[in-house]
Amino acid sequence: MQEKIWLSPPHMSGEEQKYIQLAFDENYIAPAGSNLIGFEKELGEYLGIPHVLALTSGTAAIHLALITLGIKAGDEVLAPSFTFAACVNPIVYQGAIPIFVDSDSESWNMSPELLEKAIVDRIGKGKKPKAIIVVHLYGMPAKMKPIREIADKYEIPIIEDAAEALGSEYQDQRCGTLGDISIISFNGNKIITSSGGGALISRNREWIQKARFLATQAKDDFPYYHHTHIGYNYRMSNVVAGIGRGQLEVIENRVKKRRANFDFYLSQLGKFEGISFLRQRPRAYSNYWLTTILVDPEKTNGVSGEDIRWALDAENIESRHLWKPMHMQPVFEKSPAYVDGTSEKLFNIGLCLPSGSSLIDEQKERVVSTIVKTLNG
Ligand SMILES: *Cc1c(COP(=O)(O)O)cnc(C)c1O
Repeated sequence: MQEKIWLSPPHMSGEEQKYIQLAFDENYIAPAGSNLIGFEKELGEYLGIPHVLALTSGTAAIHLALITLGIKAGDEVLAPSFTFAACVNPIVYQGAIPIFVDSDSESWNMSPELLEKAIVDRIGKGKKPKAIIVVHLYGMPAKMKPIREIADKYEIPIIEDAAEALGSEYQDQRCGTLGDISIISFNGNKIITSSGGGALISRNREWIQKARFLATQAKDDFPYYHHTHIGYNYRMSNVVAGIGRGQLEVIENRVKKRRANFDFYLSQLGKFEGISFLRQRPRAYSNYWLTTILVDPEKTNGVSGEDIRWALDAENIESRHLWKPMHMQPVFEKSPAYVDGTSEKLFNIGLCLPSGSSLIDEQKERVVSTIVKTLNG
């Protein structure tokens, strides 16, 4: 069996160890210390927003974003249907109700038209949604300008889920700075990883201060334990923050590598009838976290994305379906959904290709030759 090619494995820079050593030297094996301070400062500099809170996960960051915006039981929150469950589960943690909105076929992210339709309909039913979660899947920026206009028109705040989009830009602004409050993930499969972790970002300093308080068990400023709020244990570890610092040093390189993966796959597979790529639009710069394709069996002589996935699997190459839409998930079957079939179609015919920043040419050639062989029958 040939060596396994993974979809998106961790890619260490070698600089992580010195920061881990620093945590050990200072004996800050805790959710506090100089790596945490440094990581937040450095991430803030990269994003151009100084108010950054490092947390245990992107999911925890979304949960705190909802709490910060005052989302309570029974409230409705608009979210994309085409996303990862972690993006919407925290809505349910709050006892709130997710309202799903389908994708537009250009960005694969939240459709501005369906978003407005959903808002108008919910208001008509007597309940104005309290927040909009927008995601940039696979690193591809969502259509933030029209979405922002709609959000402002109806005065609904935006939670930006940039878990997959660190290094992407929309109209010259970095993803992770486009929401009223934004989140990033440093999970093991993301463009850079701290082994597990996340961050909450906002231009609103008070919000981040409040979230910091809630993330560390909501300890009021008393000489004894005194609580006026329900707290959480969501703070990132100082050891983990050290890994994050070592990764942040190489973010530019990682974006470059992932984009080169996309360019290579496009150059080799773009010419095949029935294969299309999710591609960036003018002024929507993608980190191409994952290269994703659609396979139309009507134009490939019957070869499907699933056929390609099996062929890759037989060669010890990991590829994956696109996200299965939330409105098709048993767990969300009762949630209202404003859908037009776009995300369902993406799920049915889409595929994520191996996209790690550590992929070497020989590995990418193995992926391509397997796909070409399958297409040529
Ligand atoms: C990874 C991911 C999350 C969750 O982040 P974790 O750090 O794994 O909790 C949320 N939303 C999207 C779109 C993701 O890809």
